Amino acid sequence: MEDYLRYIESLQKKEDALFSRMEYYAEEYRVPIMDRLGIETFLGLLCIQQPKSILEIGSAIGYSALRIATALKDTTIVTIERDSDRFSKAVEYIGESDAGSRIVILEADALETEAEEIFSRQYDALFIDAAKGQYKRFFEKYEPTVKSGGVIYCDNMFMHGMVLLEDGEVPKRNRTMIRKLKEFTQWMYAHPGFETSLLPVGDGILIAVKR
Ligand code: SAM
Repeated sequence: MEDYLRYIESLQKKEDALFSRMEYYAEEYRVPIMDRLGIETFLGLLCIQQPKSILEIGSAIGYSALRIATALKDTTIVTIERDSDRFSKAVEYIGESDAGSRIVILEADALETEAEEIFSRQYDALFIDAAKGQYKRFFEKYEPTVKSGGVIYCDNMFMHGMVLLEDGEVPKRNRTMIRKLKEFTQWMYAHPGFETSLLPVGDGILIAVKR
């Protein structure tokens, strides 16, 4: 598998300077942004789906939002981040790119906010990429904003392999989070309102199409 990953990475085009700087910043300050293989695959899926409007939970420094806005020229993105340092950095980066004019970023806790900018419209896609133990709560709160036929994407469904471990093998500090993530995944697979699949790419991308 490692060889295939290296092969795919060797095919990926060099990103523009802004994305390279963002990747460098994320590495330097340990900001968890989507990994290369994950984001490229995700962009491929979005290019097939062609959503005109996307809601993202968890902007971090705005990397995924900017990559999406750059790849999909007619798409608008609303993105939410609760960490004020990351939010400020995201605002800075978003301001550097023309594609940033199609991104609305809000500083808020997604589990608490009722902001008009978020709830006054419906979305073709919802991207959940925030606290992993809260995915079910994010889903329940934001699923009604997704149009019928729309798609919900979730990243980090494997949590770097921790979902494959027995409960007792998971580091204690991550145990509840991993339990909740696995419960959410099973719950999604059983959900009659969605066609759910899990893509073994990057750190695991869940795709749920709303019936
Ligand atoms: N989507 C980003 C990317 O790939 O460029 C990475 C997002 S990072 C994995 C997760 C972010 O979600 C963190 O910056 C964290 O502060 C934020 N977050 C976690 N829980 C949140 C919440 N309840 N509301 C808003 N943001 C949250």
